[in-house]
Amino acid sequence: MNESAVERKRILTGDRPTGRLHLGHYVGSLKNRVALQQSHETILIVADLHMLTTKPTREDINQISDNVRGLVLDYLAAGIDPQQVTIYLQSAVFETYELNLLFEMLVTVNRLARIPSLKDMARAANMSDEEMPFGLLGYPVLQAADILLPRAHLVPVGKDNESHVEVTREIARRFNSLYGEVFPIPDVLVGEVPTLVGTDGRDKMSKSLGNCIFLSDDAATVTKKVRGMYTDPNRVRADIPGTIEGNPVFAYHDAFNPRGDEVADLKQRYRAGTVGDVEVKDKLAHALNEFLEPLRARYARYQAEPGLVDEIIVQGTQRMRETARATMKLVRTAMGLAGTWNRLTRAAERRQKKTTEVIP
Ligand code: ATP
Ligand code: MG
Repeated sequence: MNESAVERKRILTGDRPTGRLHLGHYVGSLKNRVALQQSHETILIVADLHMLTTKPTREDINQISDNVRGLVLDYLAAGIDPQQVTIYLQSAVFETYELNLLFEMLVTVNRLARIPSLKDMARAANMSDEEMPFGLLGYPVLQAADILLPRAHLVPVGKDNESHVEVTREIARRFNSLYGEVFPIPDVLVGEVPTLVGTDGRDKMSKSLGNCIFLSDDAATVTKKVRGMYTDPNRVRADIPGTIEGNPVFAYHDAFNPRGDEVADLKQRYRAGTVGDVEVKDKLAHALNEFLEPLRARYARYQAEPGLVDEIIVQGTQRMRETARATMKLVRTAMGLAGTWNRLTRAAERRQKKTTEVIP
């Protein structure tokens, strides 16, 4: 760690290893991580324990290794610099489990039950409210453990995760007021596009909805997906005036097409009914492929070095273990939990000594 790392504010954020990253992940969070990796000490968590909240079977677990490699490859392709950033595997940092349990005492069941996104996640996993596991209810508590283990100051996430980070802030405040100032109260940073719509026009691009363009899609796949995108359903012919609002094709143009004048011109002609869908979509496919080209070059570079991704994760996890150990020392001392054990062991030692002195 260099000198400046000591003063830099810390970032913690990450993803579940449930599949490859898509454009929604990029605009919601990844873009901010890349932009801030120099100015902030950045830690990315590969949240495999969070995956267990909805995917706990042996088959799910068997897929983690491949998914982790894919996810980290996506980070690197997106421009995350492994020299600057710590990338770690959540399940291999055991202090996570410990801090999670301690935090469970600092939040009410009622508070968690009111978070709408947890019910959405249960629904996406085909669970009824009755089937919701305790661990899924505790999803934001585990997130609090992740964020506060490195005592992070800033959490770049998409809009759907904002309410979870609020729980982290509440837990940090409660901890500090009960036991003394250990944790910073972290701020949320939501991306420029808080929630990217799906290619099918549904509110959110999401793996589980199958409406994604992945960062790892090749040019032909991107073009094909764009051609099939949902647009204004009332516009059955090119000479019918169309609607821009809520039209995913234009939402993507706004997010990814660097040529603002081209986008303005397309919007104006779309509203007037003087442009065909094909032209609007082809220009979008072009812009997206242009955006993904440098990522493709980096994919090729990292894939050409087998073992490199694994090494990055292992080294990052080892660094994170040290950070976690230091924080847990502070936590146990602040809570006085260490005290009981220390007193017991000291007394036991004293007795041992006495007995050995008496026996001979
Ligand atoms: P998905 O929601 O695609 O199934 P996931 O639930 O496994 O993916 P999360 O861990 O919920 O992924 O999301 C990782 C990060 O990406 C979070 O910060 C989340 O807010 C953000 N994110 C996910 N999808 C989108 C989207 N469509 N638009 C903006 N941000 C998003
Ligand atoms: Mg999600």
